[in-house]
Amino acid sequence: MLLVANGTVITLGKSCKVIENGAVAVEGDIIKEVGKTAELRQKYSDAEYIDAEGRLIMPGMINTHMHFYSTFARGLALPEPPANFVEILEKLWWKLDKKLTLEDVYYSALIPLIDCIKNGTTTVFDHHASFGAITGSLDEINKACTEAGLRTCLCYEVSDREGKEKALESIEENRRFIKKCQENDDPMTKATFGLHASLTLSPETLAKCAEVASELGIGVHIHTAEGIRDVEDSLDKYGMRVVERLRKYELLGPRTIAAHCVHVNDDEIRILAETDTNVVHNPESNMGNAVGCAPVIKMLKNGVRVGMGTDGFTSDMFEGIKVANVLHKHDQGDPSASWAEVPRMIFENNSAIVKNFYDKPLGVLEPGAYADIITIDYNPATPLTADSFYPHLLFGVSGAMVNTTIVAGKVLMQDRKLKGIDEKEVAAKARELAAKLWERF
Ligand SMILES: [Zn+2]
Repeated sequence: MLLVANGTVITLGKSCKVIENGAVAVEGDIIKEVGKTAELRQKYSDAEYIDAEGRLIMPGMINTHMHFYSTFARGLALPEPPANFVEILEKLWWKLDKKLTLEDVYYSALIPLIDCIKNGTTTVFDHHASFGAITGSLDEINKACTEAGLRTCLCYEVSDREGKEKALESIEENRRFIKKCQENDDPMTKATFGLHASLTLSPETLAKCAEVASELGIGVHIHTAEGIRDVEDSLDKYGMRVVERLRKYELLGPRTIAAHCVHVNDDEIRILAETDTNVVHNPESNMGNAVGCAPVIKMLKNGVRVGMGTDGFTSDMFEGIKVANVLHKHDQGDPSASWAEVPRMIFENNSAIVKNFYDKPLGVLEPGAYADIITIDYNPATPLTADSFYPHLLFGVSGAMVNTTIVAGKVLMQDRKLKGIDEKEVAAKARELAAKLWERF
């Protein structure tokens, strides 16, 4: 048993409690009890003791849309600057993913996984592409995830952009890996069916993907109306909007993740709510790609479950909180906007989204939930209560203040020291591979 104690526990969850001098008792990979340190210390006197020394103790953060493979793009010079979002895809991402080897895929996953541990992100839904090395790519990522010790849900983004054969190979990669995960039934490794976006998926491929996903009893993870071009393409070619097109192929539902949904109209919002589809908002990415501001406040108001991801921009979900907070205030021209919506997306809804993939609760410290716990070096200067914890996390906390990261009851980092991973060695190897990739780019 493990006892993470002597800190201010923020349980999150529906009946969020803040417990001074609190503790969390862990048995195996599950939380056994949450309470006062003195009481739990007495009750579990034999447990391994982690002294939080007055830090915050809270659930690990959840990122519901990520791209590990984007790692080697950091610092890569493009011959000419992209003028719009489609050019960002064409001149950067689609060129880069084609050049990745399986070894690149492994290291480009290991680096952000280390970042996740250091920033207190413990569950990640990744969306992968490597059209030069498709088969086995999800195993390489999974190898990195297992070594790092993070909880992940992986998929490969099917697309017709590299031709029919590659599309079929990527469908097969999803099928193979999903089946493997379903057979293993490991709560650390989940899989879903990845799709790039409507604009690079032909009717035949979309139908085939829908068939395989349905056979496997699984939803899809797809970029949805991220840029306006996705909408124009769907209207031009098929006479319907993106969400309508996904509905036509029966791809929506509680196990589907529709990332972005920047350009969705009222009808599409209604469809997303009616089908109980998960939407994932990525504020930094949307601003960085200049695709617009997703109508998340409207979607939430209309009953859509909107969570939050980072789309590869960062592994630090606390950074995402800060950006989402100012983005929606700026967009609405209203300084009181998004006070309730941002914490709802990042805590409540991310937790609800992953509930559709895992047997036990995540994103909450309560008996029976997975033991994914972080401690944060933070001394509140004002009262921190169940009603006021959010502004503390928004204005006072960043990922770099995470001191200890525990996933499935296993300590991955303590006092900011990683266990079992030589970070410098991994980074040195990554730099070597990235330099070679840049030469091939
Ligand atoms: Zn994305």
